[in-house]
Amino acid sequence: MPILDKVLIANRGEIALRILRACKELDIRTIAVHSKADRELMHVRLADESVCIGPAPSKDSYLNVPAIISAAEVTNATAIHPGYGFLAENADFAEQVEKSGYIFIGPTADTIRLMGDKVSAIESMKRAGVPTVPGSDGPLTDDSERTLEVARRIGYPVIVKAAAGGGGKGMRVVHNEAALLSSVQITQTEAGAAFGSEVVYLEKYLQKPRHVEIQVLADGQGNAIHLGDRDCSLQRRHQKVLEEAPAPGIPEDLRAQVAEACVNACIEIGYRGAGTFEFLYEDGGFYFIEMNTRVQVEHPVTEMITGIDIVKEQLRIASGLPLSIKQEDIRFTGHAFECRINAEDPKTFLPSPGKVTTFHPPGGPGIRVDSHLYDGYTVPPFYDSLIGKIISYGESRQVALARMRQALDELVVEGIRTNAPLHRDLVRDRAFAAGGVSIHYLESKLEE
Ligand code: ADP
Repeated sequence: MPILDKVLIANRGEIALRILRACKELDIRTIAVHSKADRELMHVRLADESVCIGPAPSKDSYLNVPAIISAAEVTNATAIHPGYGFLAENADFAEQVEKSGYIFIGPTADTIRLMGDKVSAIESMKRAGVPTVPGSDGPLTDDSERTLEVARRIGYPVIVKAAAGGGGKGMRVVHNEAALLSSVQITQTEAGAAFGSEVVYLEKYLQKPRHVEIQVLADGQGNAIHLGDRDCSLQRRHQKVLEEAPAPGIPEDLRAQVAEACVNACIEIGYRGAGTFEFLYEDGGFYFIEMNTRVQVEHPVTEMITGIDIVKEQLRIASGLPLSIKQEDIRFTGHAFECRINAEDPKTFLPSPGKVTTFHPPGGPGIRVDSHLYDGYTVPPFYDSLIGKIISYGESRQVALARMRQALDELVVEGIRTNAPLHRDLVRDRAFAAGGVSIHYLESKLEE
């Protein structure tokens, strides 16, 4: 008996294929849903059943909740996996899925809501003993004297952030008192327009932090474990470009201490599923910024160093099984990198959709390629430009990096432009090779 009978994959591209692979391994039947522009997707061909849920634009297809629920009805699905992006962190969708009688592969709608509001997320993290960024301890009020006082206490520069913000939007850095109140007001107005909530809060603006995050698994039955950390500091416009696990150069006792705090937080909030605690790391301190309540693009680097299949664990947890792995069973060995390959111009970063005339993925020891690409596939212009991920593993950081250099040299994608040249450059960068660059490193390198 499979743990779940039939899973509907409410996503596209590489992550839909990744979920399909995990389902096949566990003998779970699969349903692909796709837009009219996505009939040629690899996982649509491989799924047991497929349903077209609407026209190309995401809002009419991958974000079309009634169409997805109808597809689940006509195919008799047991559960729905949202992947990442699209509806993955939409609490109303999770609620609708469960109300319609399907299992939502992820946490409860209430948990998604709690973590989706950054103010309530930070509050619950504090209660659980997770270190947070010094800040306003709650939303800012109409009392401008109090706002000025809070900023003085925190010390400039500060950052005004929207409680409902996401995707790197709804944030404004303020360098001095003269600019504070107007910045607060502008961010409130922008947040209201973009996220439907004007609630903003203040945080200390950290000047040269790294982005370090902790992967967790919890069963919602009182058991939780962590799978260590990842460094995702190489970012452009708050979008991650290249990630690695473990985060280099962090003292082992500190690493263990923060991971344990995350595990405790999971138990405290009754977390269920896979999740990620995102931190800024500066001068030996961890500062929680937000929690992602879904599988992440960069999950493979963690899988490589732990040997644990995170998507299979999500499926097991969703079926109601208690966690089968104990913290002491987890061994962290070696090092892994992931390069996100995007269909975009490596210099201008403009999207480059179109027909892939040749695709040759790299191989060899320690190389994994998660991609839905094949010769003759046409990358549609409607969606995110991620076309695949190259993951390298080695017994040491040096070996993993050398393998990634070779893998990128072997990769051939013709017919469209990709950011592979940027990655080839990055894996030969001396500061990156040394480890521990800040979140501003890539953008300042690009400026040069
Ligand atoms: P989002 O949900 O939009 O991704 P986050 O809260 O995760 O927002 O912040 C996104 C990015 O903004 C961080 O990765 C970091 O680069 C920057 N940032 C956020 N808060 C701070 C802070 N207090 N100090 C410095 N940079 C910050």
